[in-house]
Amino acid sequence: MSAVLPATEIGAAGAGGTPAGGVLQVRGLSKSFGGIHAVKDISFDVNPGEIVGLIGPNGAGKTTCFNLITGFYTPSAGQVQFRGNDVTGKAPYEMARLGIVRSFQKTNILKSLTVFENVVTGHYMQARQSLWRTFFPGRRVRDTEREIRDSAERIVHTMGLAQRIDVPAYMLSCGELRLLEVALALSAKPQILMLDEPAAGLNSEEAKTFGEILKKLRGRLVQSILLVEHNMGLVMSVSDRVVVMHFGQKLVEGAPAQVQSDPRVIEAYLGGGKH
Ligand code: ATP
Repeated sequence: MSAVLPATEIGAAGAGGTPAGGVLQVRGLSKSFGGIHAVKDISFDVNPGEIVGLIGPNGAGKTTCFNLITGFYTPSAGQVQFRGNDVTGKAPYEMARLGIVRSFQKTNILKSLTVFENVVTGHYMQARQSLWRTFFPGRRVRDTEREIRDSAERIVHTMGLAQRIDVPAYMLSCGELRLLEVALALSAKPQILMLDEPAAGLNSEEAKTFGEILKKLRGRLVQSILLVEHNMGLVMSVSDRVVVMHFGQKLVEGAPAQVQSDPRVIEAYLGGGKH
């Protein structure tokens, strides 16, 4: 696990220091849809500097759990704490403003704009939420624009898209689009980056590159990452810790090697998910 990062390196919400324990603490989280217990009494932490993988067979409850943490669903029971504060049930835009930011597949990429223009646009959408800062005495708009361009360039470089910076998004490969999606999420200056199947549709080489870039991000542009992913090679190579869900509950939690060899996990995957 890498060390806690300086606040300046990890986005605006980083100022003030992280309380002891997890940057994200999930406690007894539950969600039912009618009679289906999609998530049942789930608890885990994401610590500063960690990449945590959330895995499980189909229908295990991963996406529901992800949607509960990011505010897209309201829990039936339990709590989400972020940096020591109860954020349970807050709206997605409030979660994002606090620093819990998820990436979206394709939907917010503007295909006719270049990679750079897309990432700059992402910054402006974020800046609009904190317009007052633009009008602080002594703070000139020109400086803000330069900061945005510098930040966008830094993100594009870190995401390995420097060679494609002036290429329109419609010309990108599937792997490059996935990287751009994450770049857009980074424009919102996350503390914790939430990724739901970011490698879907990537071939093994693209997934490997994606994983290497994720590892670089942690410590430079985000403090921690929570990753829901079916690609086991990717999860096991990037995660510091893995939480395995099965039938809505936490089955096992531990280091990747430990989880991979756990008979309960092997049984869960062999036995399949949904009945
Ligand atoms: P997958 O890996 O297949 O995406 P998952 O682990 O993400 O699965 P969820 O999508 O969270 O699992 O689903 C968990 C359970 O909750 C499943 O039985 C699913 O059918 C059910 N479920 C999820 N969302 C809803 C919903 N909106 N309404 C009713 N049932 C739902």
